[in-house]
Amino acid sequence: MREFNAVVLGAGGVGKSALTVRFMRGEFVENYDPTIQEEYRRSIEVDGELTWLEVLDTAGAEQFTALNELYITSGRGFILVFSLTLEASLREVTSLRQQILRIKGESSGIPMVLVGTKLDLTNEREVSSATLRELATRWKIPVYETSAKRDWDVREAFEDLVRQMREY
Ligand code: GDP
Ligand code: MG
Repeated sequence: MREFNAVVLGAGGVGKSALTVRFMRGEFVENYDPTIQEEYRRSIEVDGELTWLEVLDTAGAEQFTALNELYITSGRGFILVFSLTLEASLREVTSLRQQILRIKGESSGIPMVLVGTKLDLTNEREVSSATLRELATRWKIPVYETSAKRDWDVREAFEDLVRQMREY
């Protein structure tokens, strides 16, 4: 079985842990300790191929740029997470993506997905689908609007990353 490792990056409070735990454990955690960083492992079958996947759910990544650098160097694929309810969290992802391109090299087609969280909080939404479509085109990156709470499109985002990591 092939093995891949992915890193979940994004601002604090956007829902990185909720997203990761939803995919890894199949449940929604309402209050996950924001300071805990954890590595999860599971097998996942995508297009008939069983793959072993390790996912690092980072915490407090914004402040520790040297650590970020380490995770980016050792990661094969990246889940860039922002909250659909917080415009500023999308800017954080912009800078994380730039760090990834700088560390990995611009032209290498690094496996990445952009994941907007908290789609269920309709009334608090700040980032439009149109903005995301534009970004997806400009960055050439797949975008998923998800809810860890409702289990909307979480698996699809991870599957997409696995497909990219296989081809990378
Ligand atoms: P992290 O700091 O990025 O790991 O964020 P957490 O996963 O700890 O989530 C931060 C807060 O957002 C928590 O109160 C979660 O319950 C909440 N949250 C995360 N994902 C969702 C979601 O899909 N829907 C809703 N309504 N709340 C969410
Ligand atoms: Mg967390």
